[in-house]
Amino acid sequence: MRFSTKAIRVGQEPDSATGSIIVPVYQAVNYVFDDVGRPRGFEYSRTANPTRTAFEECLASLEEARFGTAFSSGMAAVDGVLSLLRPGDHVVSARHIYGGTSRLFEAVYRPRGVDFTYVDGTRPEAFSEALRPNTQLIWIETPANPLLQLVDVGAVAGIAREHGAKLVADNTFASPYFQRPLTQGVDVIVHSTTKYISGHSDVIGGAVLTSDESLHERIRFYQNAAGAVPGPWDCWLSLRGLKTLAVRMRQHAANAQAVAEYLTGHPKAQEILYPGLPSHPQHELARRQMDGFGAIVSFRLKGGATEVSRFIKTLKIFLFAESLGGVESLVCHPATMSHAGLTPAEREQAGITDQTIRLSVGIEDTEDLLEDLDRALQAC
Ligand SMILES: *Cc1c(COP(=O)(O)O)cnc(C)c1O
Repeated sequence: MRFSTKAIRVGQEPDSATGSIIVPVYQAVNYVFDDVGRPRGFEYSRTANPTRTAFEECLASLEEARFGTAFSSGMAAVDGVLSLLRPGDHVVSARHIYGGTSRLFEAVYRPRGVDFTYVDGTRPEAFSEALRPNTQLIWIETPANPLLQLVDVGAVAGIAREHGAKLVADNTFASPYFQRPLTQGVDVIVHSTTKYISGHSDVIGGAVLTSDESLHERIRFYQNAAGAVPGPWDCWLSLRGLKTLAVRMRQHAANAQAVAEYLTGHPKAQEILYPGLPSHPQHELARRQMDGFGAIVSFRLKGGATEVSRFIKTLKIFLFAESLGGVESLVCHPATMSHAGLTPAEREQAGITDQTIRLSVGIEDTEDLLEDLDRALQAC
């Protein structure tokens, strides 16, 4: 089966009891045993639930993974992977990663004795320079938020393998439709399924995918022990979203390409960043390791605070909100939203200014999006 067929069929055989073509919401905590020591496959829903299993199997197939574990949020999935670490371990991470992930590294795992080194993710050599004998994990996110830097996945996978470290990739921005890191040498993928996987801004969730049985068992053991499981309704919504991932991603990317090209010609916009533009510093790498370029576009608005506020307030179709990956287009101001936790100096080092605007381009009609941007740029 190919991608779209797998999204619609894997893990989703018609229900054995009723023939329902849709996997039911198994709103159940416990399951009868057939005999002493003989459960039918499910025992207690913290450990496993049939609706969750369907979602896990489907997403694992799309990432070409042998094993999938769904979590109650993207951060719980990240924490599930970090549970592999022990005091004294070391992690090399790309500098540009999701803010919640760095917070978990620094505010939770560092005080517990895990050390982290951050490197420029665009330079594969930087990862090997930072390795230590106790480096257990290398952490990457590509494309990264909000400036769309890419990591050369194959090159970093080679470095990790040679050192005996495990490579973890946060594949939230690309989704498996545009990038399948396990096929490029990554050991573990994490997702915030809140974003493109679910795709409709109505459910928080996460997932870990891997083909390494021992890593899978350790992460699964931790999840069952600590309990950050998603409920059956959330899994059902995520599975419903996943069925249309391919068509959504095609429209997301077509709209994002149109928006990026439109902004490129506009006198009030500068430094337009989208991996699908030939002007993106890593466009060639994007073409090599991705099948499409995603739907996040960043740029700098010319002017000051007044112009930024006028631009955002004039937009009607782009909603002014956090997050990304839903069918509706969003505009975000990273300096006061996603990256407000950084100091001004840290933001400057990360390349985020008060004029940086991030668009999460949805799947509305392209012309409506361009007209909306045009009106807002004229107003400022
Ligand atoms: C949103 C996000 C997360 C965190 O996921 P939640 O579902 O919000 O917990 C992690 N990584 C990336 C890249 C994200 O965009």
